[in-house]
Amino acid sequence: MSDTPTIPAPAPQKIRCDACPVMCYIADGRAGACDRYANHDGQLVRLDPLTVIENRARTVGGAGGDADGDIPLVPFLDTTWDGSIVGGDRQFVTAIGAGTTYPDYKPAPFIVASEYDGVDMVTVVTEGIFSYCGAKVKIDTDRHLGSECAPVRADGQVVGHVTTSEYGSQMLSLGGVTHLTGGDKKEGRVTCATLLALCNGAAVDLAIDGGAEVTVQAGQAPVVNGLREERMRVGCGSATVGIFAAQWQGLVDEVVVVDDHITGVMSEHQAGKVIGWEPTGIKILGRRSTPGRYFQVAEPGTGWGGTDMTDPLTILGPWNPKIARPGLSLLMVSTTGEHAAYYELDEDLRPVRMEIPDRLIPSTRRIEENCEPALCSVLFMGGAGGSLRAGVTRNPIGLTRSVQNALTRVTVGGAPAYVWPGGGITLMADVTQMPSNAFGYVPTPALVAPIEFTLRRADYEALGGHMDHIVPLSEALEGTLGRQSDHVLSGRRDVARAPGAPWPARPLKGPRG
Ligand code: SF4
Repeated sequence: MSDTPTIPAPAPQKIRCDACPVMCYIADGRAGACDRYANHDGQLVRLDPLTVIENRARTVGGAGGDADGDIPLVPFLDTTWDGSIVGGDRQFVTAIGAGTTYPDYKPAPFIVASEYDGVDMVTVVTEGIFSYCGAKVKIDTDRHLGSECAPVRADGQVVGHVTTSEYGSQMLSLGGVTHLTGGDKKEGRVTCATLLALCNGAAVDLAIDGGAEVTVQAGQAPVVNGLREERMRVGCGSATVGIFAAQWQGLVDEVVVVDDHITGVMSEHQAGKVIGWEPTGIKILGRRSTPGRYFQVAEPGTGWGGTDMTDPLTILGPWNPKIARPGLSLLMVSTTGEHAAYYELDEDLRPVRMEIPDRLIPSTRRIEENCEPALCSVLFMGGAGGSLRAGVTRNPIGLTRSVQNALTRVTVGGAPAYVWPGGGITLMADVTQMPSNAFGYVPTPALVAPIEFTLRRADYEALGGHMDHIVPLSEALEGTLGRQSDHVLSGRRDVARAPGAPWPARPLKGPRG
């Protein structure tokens, strides 16, 4: 045994990630607080693979692909460019997995040159850190989910509110800077986790104060109070009367289409009148708007037509004995066809429920047939008018103007973004158009969303772009980041373009636009 004292090996250096304000010190072999970056042998690595969209049809479940039609992940070390010419019409480098150069005191991680149909294009790619962001959620259902402005909770925390309903759909506004940063830590953390799950296509359980519990997942049917919603309504009660007036004529004496918004009564309605429908002496208990159109026949709920009714006769008053007659037939139906009942008046002019006659069954089926499947839609909404513009250009207002003048195409993970008119770059994008797991988070808390700006090279130069940091598409496909980045990429994932989505590298304006 030697007397020489052993000198402990120096502890491996931690490295600092400066991709967000948390600025983690990460030990070798460990990941940072967001699990997006890690220290591998002293090198900062962006862990999620860089996602490249290929201009080919998506073959869900096809050979070698997953649900996105993805080609299995390839580590960059195992790939070398085969020398073939890659065009901007064939592959598009998204920001998913690209990393960021936050807080944008240097150019974005990838500024990629490509050619589309003879036009020189540039795409600037970065993962933006959004604290001004949220999700607008559309839930196709007539069922009452909650009153307008009612708080929406996840894990007991308020993460948003019910906003104005749309035609056949209930709407939620979730997230936003107030819930992310304006409340206590738990509210911010749960809000961020809720947005992340929704934007990445996961199912999220929400509870609405004074209303329903609903499970929401982008592209899937909503589940309201444990029941999966099947159909979106064919129209409001008045519209349904109009659509089916001619088909019901001669088959039944009266039709009432029960709807929380407008309950329609055939014999009084404009549609019934113009085709010669006879008066029946029916009396509806509700606020008459115009003939045959009634508001507020019941309270909102999860029963007939989005009301709290389980027995539709509760909206009928006494029939007018001068007009009504025994044997008069009445069909009551909801706007999805889910509820339907048939009655005939007895000698005392009271409706008596009977089996729906065969002659009326095709029309109730036709209502169901005309209802679209009920879905949840999730639009990511964020403000990209802040510092990330400096990663695109030395003159940020130049980018804002270029976007507003429709010279620059904005995409989110390759998905088309709707940019709001007015100031800033306030955008919305459908999360189902994006490759899977497009979003991340940082614990500040904020959502990390991929964003790409694509424009003609000449326009990029004119707006003060970082021309000296442009790399060819072939290099980007090999994972070679610009010299401004201090991280490396772990691998690449190729996915097929979303069906129907415009190709993200196509110029917006001009002869070939
Ligand atoms: S939270 Fe993530 S992005 Fe932020 S510094 Fe830590 S590792 Fe980097």
